[in-house]
Amino acid sequence: RARKRFGQNFLNNDSVISQIVATIYPQAGENLVEIGPGLGALTEPVATTAGHLQVVELDRDLAQRLREHPTLASKLTIHEIDALKFDFMQLAKPEQKMRVFGNLPYNISTPLIFHLLSFTSAISDMHFMLQKEVVKRMAAGPDSKAYGRLSVMTQVQCNVMPALEVPPEAFAPPPKVDSAVVRLEPYETTLYPLNSLATLDRVCKEAFNQRRKTIRNALGNLLTVEHLAELDLKPTLRPENLTIQQFCDIANYIDKNQLLQASSSDE
Ligand code: SAM
Repeated sequence: RARKRFGQNFLNNDSVISQIVATIYPQAGENLVEIGPGLGALTEPVATTAGHLQVVELDRDLAQRLREHPTLASKLTIHEIDALKFDFMQLAKPEQKMRVFGNLPYNISTPLIFHLLSFTSAISDMHFMLQKEVVKRMAAGPDSKAYGRLSVMTQVQCNVMPALEVPPEAFAPPPKVDSAVVRLEPYETTLYPLNSLATLDRVCKEAFNQRRKTIRNALGNLLTVEHLAELDLKPTLRPENLTIQQFCDIANYIDKNQLLQASSSDE
């Protein structure tokens, strides 16, 4: 029985499973890491070609089933732990970046993506099944409703490539939403020179918490109108009008002028 609190929707459509595995394209000898293997729908075909993979599964019963699995167990290193708290750096090997994938539990997918984005230096690519809505937000550009903190924080580090859409019927039980697989490729050389991701994240939080305000108001805690003028930004723009480059310029400007220390609502 699927556990709702663990966001369990198991893939049960062979054609969809093959398409996802073909998209991941696992190869022998790679450092493959799966989040939430569950009953092994993706784990098994990936292990067949890759020979070995590491899995992170929180559900004790499912982890135990994998340990006892007659053909799969010997090909797995099982980490029975909460992926949100897991230090993925532990799985990085010298000279070999990780390839991370998973049909993610939708109830924690956004925090989990943010968590994984902190390990991109050790990751060569990621493939995730997510709510279609989340993939849309990840891939969104400026001047659209879907554009927000997730878009900026993902795209500043990764090339985002939506890969395939998956209907609810491909899962048991079927989720209430449409799903999609996205491929994320962390950039080797950054497109957006950035002093601090933490500052960028802070700017995104401030901006998109009040996305209907002008940036003069939405970023009022961090920047004055004079600062905006120096940055060559019209104060009447809205957060969703700013490009990723402009968000990075703001974050770098804040760091350079040490404006975060001065701001009142800093935690
Ligand atoms: N990979 C399987 C499939 O495609 O059929 C299962 C996918 S299911 C949507 C999500 C999986 O993530 C479940 O196995 C669930 O137990 C596991 N899970 C939920 N929360 C987790 C967490 N915080 N850390 C690690 N695994 C988690």
